[in-house]
Amino acid sequence: MKISEADAKTLLGAAGLPVAPGEVADGAAAARTIAERYFGGGAGRVVVKAQVLAGGRGKAGGVRLAASPDEVEEVAAVILALTIKGYPVRRVLVGPAAVIERELYLAALLDRSARRILVMGSAEGGIDIEEVASTRPDTIVSVHAHPQIGLAAWQARQLAFRLGLGDHLREAVGIARGLIAVMQDNDADLVEVNPLAVVVERAPDGAETRRLVCLDAKITLDDSALPRHPQLEALRDPDEEAPIDREARLAGITYIHLEGTIGCMVNGAGLAMTTMDLIKRAGGEPANFLDIGGGARADKVTAAMRLILADRGVRAILVNIFGGITRGDEVARGLVEARRVQERDVPMVVRIVGTNATEAAELLRASGFETATTLDDAAAKAVAAAARSGAAA
Ligand code: GDP
Ligand code: MN
Repeated sequence: MKISEADAKTLLGAAGLPVAPGEVADGAAAARTIAERYFGGGAGRVVVKAQVLAGGRGKAGGVRLAASPDEVEEVAAVILALTIKGYPVRRVLVGPAAVIERELYLAALLDRSARRILVMGSAEGGIDIEEVASTRPDTIVSVHAHPQIGLAAWQARQLAFRLGLGDHLREAVGIARGLIAVMQDNDADLVEVNPLAVVVERAPDGAETRRLVCLDAKITLDDSALPRHPQLEALRDPDEEAPIDREARLAGITYIHLEGTIGCMVNGAGLAMTTMDLIKRAGGEPANFLDIGGGARADKVTAAMRLILADRGVRAILVNIFGGITRGDEVARGLVEARRVQERDVPMVVRIVGTNATEAAELLRASGFETATTLDDAAAKAVAAAARSGAAA
């Protein structure tokens, strides 16, 4: 489960990490009231940040600085009207703007293959870490924490030096260890601070000091461990689950969205994975993993078709059913019904074998569906159909 930046910062702050102050508002007027307090306290500028469960808010216009209460109200209204990566912005975080000298990246994440917590840092912070990993892999520093000992002092210091934080050694060591503590205490998979910033603070007498502050925070909690932390359930965001995922869950369908163009409808997780492999081997890219499960009736097939077609990237659909408990004719009836009600048509290739395959074939033929008997044939036809309809689009 993902939680908002504001909630993630609360968890970090409670663990003693230096986080930027801020308060959440659900409207522009409320944002202004909060900002007035910070301006009154001496803040030169205030930062207004969209609270949505997506990264890249800055690029999307969801993070803005403002120099007066009027301006805060204005930018808050603009941000609250945005939809970022499919998430409508309902709340903003308002806090005094930091004066940033450097932006770094620091995160604790679960390295499943090593069965350890990995602390990963980069001197190139602020931007998308995947981008850094591909364009500047040399700037990424990582170290495993020992399951019992944690991050040894020398490891933490070495990490800090490699990130160029020699001047902030003690702080950096505390933050790295703090991320691990937050991760363990909350059963998180990921605790990410991007940017971890060197901020400049000016005392009333004009003296400048520099310190490390967590300016952004992202925490992903392990869903399976949530029952151990009932208080964290309150942090669940209504947008935590995308509408499509919710619809899939309620329909009893396992659906995972992918980036390709060929929608898949399959029964059984193993067959679904095989189908995806075959699509890739035939030169295509699956648009999803979708398992309608065993014994699916026609209505589940129509629900699955709705999920697939809701993805505008889908250019062709491959239906691959191995009838056992699932009856081929039921699936075929579902497909015929789905096609009757759907608002968008894309080429479809259907392969149904096993229980009632003959009845299924008759139904499909009568309705003019393109069919295939072998899996390779089905994959090849679907890839060709996607290419054709992609070219036409
Ligand atoms: P993200 O784009 O969703 O990761 O949102 P961030 O909270 O990381 O903000 C994006 C960028 O906005 C940061 O990398 C900073 O450059 C900038 N930013 C965020 N907070 C502040 C702030 O308090 N002061 C200043 N000057 N810039 C900020
Ligand atoms: Mn960020």
